[in-house]
Amino acid sequence: MNLNGKTALVTGGSRGIGKAIALRLAEFGANIVVNYTSNSQKAEETVNEIKEMGRDAIALQANVADLSQIEELVKKAEEKFGNIDVLVNNAGIEKDKLLIKMTEEDWDKVMEVNLKGAFNCTKIIGRKMMRKRSGKIINITSVVGITGNVGQANYAASKAGLIGFTKSVAKELATRGITVNAVAPGLIKSDMTDALPEAIKEQMLAKIPVGKAGMPEEVADTVAFLASERANYITGQVINVDGGMVM
Ligand code: NAP
Repeated sequence: MNLNGKTALVTGGSRGIGKAIALRLAEFGANIVVNYTSNSQKAEETVNEIKEMGRDAIALQANVADLSQIEELVKKAEEKFGNIDVLVNNAGIEKDKLLIKMTEEDWDKVMEVNLKGAFNCTKIIGRKMMRKRSGKIINITSVVGITGNVGQANYAASKAGLIGFTKSVAKELATRGITVNAVAPGLIKSDMTDALPEAIKEQMLAKIPVGKAGMPEEVADTVAFLASERANYITGQVINVDGGMVM
């Protein structure tokens, strides 16, 4: 796979799955815009790792939920790299609670980051990709968006929404040389899942046919494929990377 000369924006690219995606796309030749929201040290570490690989990278702070911050981010990214060829909507948060205990704020925050964040980035960058008549958009959803999960009504709704969003935008942009796909990870090792109670992790592991959690790099490999020309004829799809958890 060859991404030489391409620029990729990975939202939430400073840690976890986003970082693995940023590094993998860089390995295949892309320059990377590493977006983050609060932890600048982690973002700079990721940028340095990419530079050590011989690619260029920049860390840009922006809350994906805020359209004006994304407009500013895209301006800075274009000043540095020209175009954004690959957009990975990866930034996501969880605020898990049973519905009865879930506050309006828990609902709104998760929707704003996970779903509106993808809308904000895709709207701004998608318009530019349309003018160029090329681009790859990959949305990181979750198997929970397909199955639902106790304690995750907000998160599952945001991730299910992302699947509908992916398919709709894929249809709208298909004739413009732009593909839009979703990757649905299962249980992947990251800060997000390290924070889960052991009992919940055990329950989830019991449902995974391959018998173990996935690694962020395994999600990154699928994203890199979808970002490459090898996946030109794939659009509007949801690819589960979950060790067979959902089939
Ligand atoms: P993580 O370790 O918690 O990392 C989250 C990343 O998103 C960080 O870089 C964080 O930046 C950034 N971020 C959070 N809120 C943001 C905002 N408002 N604007 C911009 N950036 C923001 O998460 P992860 O486990 O790698 O998950 C990455 C994606 O995969 C998420 O969409 C998640 O829902 C999805 N996913 C994960 C799993 C899993 O098992 N881990 C499974 C299915 C789906 P800061 O460091 O600055 O906060």
